[in-house]
Amino acid sequence: MDATIERVWKEECGVAAVLCRDRRTPAAPLIHLALYALQHRGQESAGIAASDGRRLTAHRDLGLVAQVFTPEIILALDGWLAVGHVRYATMGSVTLANAQPIVVSSPWGPLAVAHNGNLINAPALRRALEADGCVFTSSTDTEVIAHLLARAPVSTAEEAARYCMPRLEGAFTVTVLVEDMVLGFRDRHGIRPLILGGGPNFWILASETCAFDHVGGEPLGEVEPGELVVCAAEGVRAVPVLEAPRRAHCVFEYIYFARPDTVLFHRNVHQARRRMGRILAREHPAPADLVVPVPDSGSSAAMGYAEESGLPLEIGLIKNRYIGRTFLQPSPAVRDAGVQIKLNALREVVDGRRVVLVDDSIVRGTTSSRIVALLRRAGAREVHMRVSSPPIHFPCFYGIDTSSRGQLIAATRSVEEIREQIGADSLGYLSQAGLVEALRLPTEALCMACLDGRYPTRVPTEEEAGRAALEPVAATSPSEIPEVAVWPGR
Ligand code: AMP
Repeated sequence: MDATIERVWKEECGVAAVLCRDRRTPAAPLIHLALYALQHRGQESAGIAASDGRRLTAHRDLGLVAQVFTPEIILALDGWLAVGHVRYATMGSVTLANAQPIVVSSPWGPLAVAHNGNLINAPALRRALEADGCVFTSSTDTEVIAHLLARAPVSTAEEAARYCMPRLEGAFTVTVLVEDMVLGFRDRHGIRPLILGGGPNFWILASETCAFDHVGGEPLGEVEPGELVVCAAEGVRAVPVLEAPRRAHCVFEYIYFARPDTVLFHRNVHQARRRMGRILAREHPAPADLVVPVPDSGSSAAMGYAEESGLPLEIGLIKNRYIGRTFLQPSPAVRDAGVQIKLNALREVVDGRRVVLVDDSIVRGTTSSRIVALLRRAGAREVHMRVSSPPIHFPCFYGIDTSSRGQLIAATRSVEEIREQIGADSLGYLSQAGLVEALRLPTEALCMACLDGRYPTRVPTEEEAGRAALEPVAATSPSEIPEVAVWPGR
């Protein structure tokens, strides 16, 4: 499977951790629900590790949350502490060995780690750990974090996290289950999201607030950039560990990744996207009859575009919800077929009409070309493509898998050349200033490196930037890993 997975723009992962304060309520069912809510952040593998403070049990597998877990498995994941993960490979290939949470033994008992992001110094850290006798079983940078924690020359697990954080470079949002605590920490720029929530008798850490809604929790606040949050039955403590010179929240979380019902940094994602659509309509009006969103990624922005332009919003494309993401298809040929069965145009709506087609982003340009062609085949007289983000010119080193600029259509082509390539009558992108205005966040609080090349960290070397930076390792086939792995307590 690994060899055929194309290197394309990919979404990163979702993490969650739960601690039930009464020490009796099982945490795995809550994490299970949270992972369902975070499924959009990764569909390659899912996993949960649970513990009662002494014995840790974990289950991970390739596939969707619904495929990976059965009621029996959730029941077997015993204990009032749990950490979970959904994965979309940005570091390491798609094998079971790379599924998370990663579990390693430590002086404090078994330790389970779930990570979202991408370390830029993972190869160097791994070499140093290997030289120290560490044996790696996966090719992920998450295992580097796990071993670094486990080998920290300190006396408590909390100190291990404080030891680890300054040694990691890049984007990291990490949740850890160790002893009778769950820990959450975030890089000094807060590139990927991590939010603390609370329920009637539990604490929860999750990538997005939509996970809280599903488990009956309330958001209590973001884990601050550079901060370590320690959740125990007795309460939660936030410890500032790293100096945080400037925030750099990933702008693509707002553009595409996050679920519309999530609130990031006090901004609801749907409303932010709707404002992007409104501004897009002001910046790029179109002589058209109706506005059609690309479902579902363009829906919120299309609503804003229609409101601002006064054009009717119409359902002109129908998405088949039972087809996996185009990006998961293993070969270009299959992916090509995938796009066609995934979307269909409504001839009755678009025939003879001038259509404004709204999507959140153009990455390689393949999707837009196909959709424009689809609308034309269904009779659309004109197709005016409007994109609610600026052109993506630069690769991301923080968890989105753009291994080379060559794949990014806007890296090498002008807007007019892109218009021609996708076959639209006109093409308009939201400006960067318009994006910032829609987000109502200061420019300095955002990472917009994919748009303007201003990276908040040092730019990784060739070796560090590659997705396969930590490979090769011994291949592990799914059958080599027990379904439910049980580690005895200390
Ligand atoms: P393309 O230009 O063909 O690479 O694809 C752009 C389409 O993919 C748009 O509809 C986006 O909403 C969607 N998209 C953007 N980023 C991602 C991502 N990381 N994973 C999956 N789809 C994405």
